Amino acid sequence: MSGSDCRPSGPGLCGRCAAGDLTCCRDTEVFLTLGDIRRIREREVPDPFYTFVPVAAGGGTGGDRVWNRIFTHPLGLRVIAHRPGGECVLLDHDGCRLDMETRPLICRLYPFEYDAVCIKGITPHLCPRPEQDNAPLLLALLGMNREEAEIWRSALYREIIEEYPDAPVE
Ligand code: SF4
Ligand code: SF4
Repeated sequence: MSGSDCRPSGPGLCGRCAAGDLTCCRDTEVFLTLGDIRRIREREVPDPFYTFVPVAAGGGTGGDRVWNRIFTHPLGLRVIAHRPGGECVLLDHDGCRLDMETRPLICRLYPFEYDAVCIKGITPHLCPRPEQDNAPLLLALLGMNREEAEIWRSALYREIIEEYPDAPVE
């Protein structure tokens, strides 16, 4: 496992970002599905690699009722763990140590914006300029496409609903 086949690594856009300490893998609360945890556990990773944080008052994503289910966990929000400096425990010097098939679904989807129904667009507010102002260029530089993202979006919501089938969504 190395950062060689994943986005935040190498000489590309994500590598440039990571080298400048600007990566989205710092200080970001990345929710993990049970599927994420199972996939990551199959790799050699620091332990523990996730933790629970309090759900912020009013936490949620607006009108996304399915997404609101994750805020019902009695321990809080299950998120990737960070080192004291703020970077994700799975972030190596050259990027994410996980291959794309193992990476948390939310990480795979960034910077796409989405809901329970579809991919809606991109919100690259963390990605470096000037690429963030040019969506097709940004996606090309990140090696991403909507078709693949749609598969991940669908998996994310499926795994949320599997874990919280009866949770209230409002
Ligand atoms: S996805 Fe954007 S913010 Fe995250 S490492 Fe890549 S370029 Fe940087
Ligand atoms: S799992 Fe990988 S892509 Fe996701 S925040 Fe951590 S280092 Fe970044």
